[in-house]
Amino acid sequence: MGAEPGGTGTSAIVIGAGIVGAITAYELAKAGIATTLIDTEGPASGCSFGNAGAISPGSVAPLAMPGVLRQVFDMLLDPEGPLHLRPAYLPRALPWLIRFTLAARPARVDRIAARLHDLHRDAVDAHRRLASEIGAPELVQERGHLHLYPDERTLAKDSGAWALRKRFGVNVRRLDRAGIVELEPSVGPRYTIGMFLPDHAMVVNPYRYVERIVAASRQRGARLAIDRIVRLEADGHGWTCRSSNREWCADHVVVAAGVASVALLRPLGIRPPLESQRGYHVSFEGVRPPTRRVVVLADRKAFTTPMEDGFRIAGTVEIAGTAAPPNPRRSAVLERLARQTFAGLDDAKAKSWMGHRPCMPDTLPWIGRSAARRGLWYAFGHGHTGVTDAPATARQIRAGITGSH
Ligand SMILES: Cc1cc2nc3c(=O)[nH]c(=O)nc-3n(C[C@H](O)[C@H](O)[C@H](O)COP(=O)(O)OP(=O)(O)OC[C@H]3O[C@@H](n4cnc5c(N)ncnc54)[C@H](O)[C@@H]3O)c2cc1C
Repeated sequence: MGAEPGGTGTSAIVIGAGIVGAITAYELAKAGIATTLIDTEGPASGCSFGNAGAISPGSVAPLAMPGVLRQVFDMLLDPEGPLHLRPAYLPRALPWLIRFTLAARPARVDRIAARLHDLHRDAVDAHRRLASEIGAPELVQERGHLHLYPDERTLAKDSGAWALRKRFGVNVRRLDRAGIVELEPSVGPRYTIGMFLPDHAMVVNPYRYVERIVAASRQRGARLAIDRIVRLEADGHGWTCRSSNREWCADHVVVAAGVASVALLRPLGIRPPLESQRGYHVSFEGVRPPTRRVVVLADRKAFTTPMEDGFRIAGTVEIAGTAAPPNPRRSAVLERLARQTFAGLDDAKAKSWMGHRPCMPDTLPWIGRSAARRGLWYAFGHGHTGVTDAPATARQIRAGITGSH
């Protein structure tokens, strides 16, 4: 089945209706391209369902920073720590882990940080505009992020990341305990140092946001199809995307399938070094959130967000592949942490979730045209900042396909 040409006479298929594919489809439809957005299950059924919703233009530090090996080792020894590696999965993960470690060399870190800064820099403006365009301005809230540390020693572990933020002009204010409590009275006494980033923002319902973006894309002429693409084939003019019982054709195909992008590209001989960093969240639904903004428990690498339907704590990096079931011990750690840190959660019921962050060893997503295959576009690998970077990604894909850059 073919996608009818839009106002531009050009057609595109976007595979994956997570935050990246949804905004990309929206931008393409807006540009007059006949767009078909295809997802196995529907909008935000992957990683984009359960993230912390943080819009973090200041996240310029790559995941692998100098000294990463020592930090990883310390974290692995701590059963309550934020990093877990399933031993049986180690042989599969090893090549990725080696590349990850090599990306931590100082010269590379500087280059990666500059690229991340470019990608993130107007994220807050872009989300504010988008939320307003789709008629849901309430979903993006600009109240800053507050990162918390118990003491100077834990703060010092992140000194490289804070130095990078400073170098790239990120607005940061250091707070003492009184300053923390003034902003967020429910934070427990464990935390005595705050780093406040006033220009950061949050999406207060990541699932509804993607749903609304997809609805707005459809209003602009995009088509949403529920189907699982199993094979991509180039023909003389464009691309055919095959599922088990039908085919979809267009001039361009954008692969925005998160961690599943690898499986779609491998048969074409394209092997992105993508690995799942499994993350968890625990949602306290129906409670009045104890905070007003994203509060990061930086020593535990956990993000907390006051959502429109409750309170969420999200975090953990678990390297265990895509097949293994969620490990309830990981979410139990997050639940305990939330209850210990914030007043007001004692009687709240908790619900947990696990998702696959699509992570590149150098933290940099693949965005743009395939060098080898005409009409094939990459939009995946956003790791921990897919919400933040989805608008910039969509803009780059739209500019590439419409030739407007
Ligand atoms: C715990 C946690 C907290 C996070 N917090 C934040 C945060 O605060 N801020 C931030 O910026 N980022 C955060 N992230 C990262 C962010 O969620 C991801 O980077 C982002 O969701 C990736 O979006 P995506 O659209 O690339 O992939 P996904 O959301 O995974 O979407 C991919 C889609 O492709 C579909 N698909 C897959 N294969 C096929 C196929 N063969 N055919 C058709 N469809 C297919 C899937 O069904 C899915 O809907 C967090 C992640 C986690 C796990």
